[in-house]
Amino acid sequence: MTTTPEAVETTPLEERLIDLIKLKGPISVADFMADALGHPHEGYYMRQASIGAEGDFTTAPEISQVFGELIGLWLVEAWRGMGSPKSFNLVELGPGRGVLMADILRAARLRPEFTKSAMVWLLETSGRLRHEQQKRLRTSEIKPFWADEFADIPPAPSLIIANEFFDCLPIRQFERIENGWRERLVGLDADEKKLAFVLGRTPPPPEIGLPEISESEIGDIYEISSDAQNVAAEICAMLTKHGGHALIIDYGHMASGLGDTLQAVRGHKFWPPLSTPGRADVTAHVDFDALSRTIIDSGAVAHGPVTQGRFLESLGLSLRVEMLCKGKGAAQAEEVRAGAHRISAPNQMGEIFKVACVSAPSSPTPAGFESA
Ligand code: SAH
Repeated sequence: MTTTPEAVETTPLEERLIDLIKLKGPISVADFMADALGHPHEGYYMRQASIGAEGDFTTAPEISQVFGELIGLWLVEAWRGMGSPKSFNLVELGPGRGVLMADILRAARLRPEFTKSAMVWLLETSGRLRHEQQKRLRTSEIKPFWADEFADIPPAPSLIIANEFFDCLPIRQFERIENGWRERLVGLDADEKKLAFVLGRTPPPPEIGLPEISESEIGDIYEISSDAQNVAAEICAMLTKHGGHALIIDYGHMASGLGDTLQAVRGHKFWPPLSTPGRADVTAHVDFDALSRTIIDSGAVAHGPVTQGRFLESLGLSLRVEMLCKGKGAAQAEEVRAGAHRISAPNQMGEIFKVACVSAPSSPTPAGFESA
C-alpha cells in the first residue's frame, strides 16, 4: 500500500474535535480513535465503514472462504473437546459484514448437533454493519443475537472468535523525551486549523509502566490499550467460569516493544491517521504479549500466538484448497489458490497476522497450538 498525501477536505468530526480541543485542550490518542471509529453519528464504523475488495480495506474472510471454513471446523473440534455442550455461546467480536460467521456456520453443518446447540452472539456497535450481518445470515437456520458490550452476552460455555477486532480498540501513546516520557496527545497545529500531535506537559503516572529511560531513545513511542486488556479480561472471566476457548486473530507483535503503530487506511491506501476522522479506518497493531499477560493474570490459559500462515496450514489449508479446486475451471481454481496464498504466504498476510487462543483452565490444547 502507498501513503496518500495530506487530505484537503475537512470532515464534520474534525470540526467538532477542533472546537473541543480549543475549549478543553488536547485529547489522548485513545479518545481520538474512539471518536474517529465509534462516534455515534460521525464515527467511521457508524457512517461509512466499507469492508471488502471494493471498500477501504479487506480482511481474510473477505479474501478467501477457506479462512472461515477452516475456523468453522476448528470450532466444531473445540466444542467436542468441551464435551459437546448442548447449549453454548458462539460469539463473534466485530463481525464486519458477517462473512466469517456465514462461512463458519456453513462449514459447521457437517455436525448438525453443533449448530443446534449454538446461540450465536454478535458484538457489534455499528447499526449499519448489524444490518449487513443480518442480511448475510438471513439464510442460515440460526437466528443471531446482537450485543453492544461483552457484558450483554449471557453466562454459558463459550467459543469466541475475533478477527481484526482488537486492532480497532483505542490505544494511548507515550513519547520518550530527553529526561522521561510524555503522553502523545492530539492537539492543533500552529494555525489551529488542523489536528496535530502534541506532547502532554506533565509526566505520566508511574502505574502506566513505561520502559526504563536506559532502554529507550528520544523519540521512541510506547503504546498501551486498556480497552484491549479489559475485553481480554472479560473473555477470560467468561471462559474460566463456564469453559470454552477464544481465538484472537489480528496484525500485531509477539513481544511488547517500542514503535508507533497507529495507522489509518482509506481506499486501500495508508492515510495520515489524523486526517479526515470518520472517513478512514484508524487502527493499531495488537500487542499479543500484553494480552498474554492479562490472560495469565486472569487465571486462563494462553496458547500461541502462532503466525496465521502456520495456523491455517496446520488446519489443512492446502488440502482444503485442492479439494475446492477439483471440478472448477482453470480461472476459478486460480482464484481460489490466489486467495489462499494471500491469507497465508509469509510476505502477504501469513506472518504479520498472528493467532492467539485463550482457553479455560485444564481444557485440552486446541488444534494448531500443540507445540506453540
Ligand atoms: N471481523 C470482520 C471485520 C473487521 S472490522 C472481518 O474480519 O471482516 C472491525 C469490526 O469491529 C467492525 O464490525 C466494527 O464495527 C467492529 N467494532 C469496532 N470497534 C468495536 C467496538 N468497540 N465494539 C464492538 N464492535 C466494534
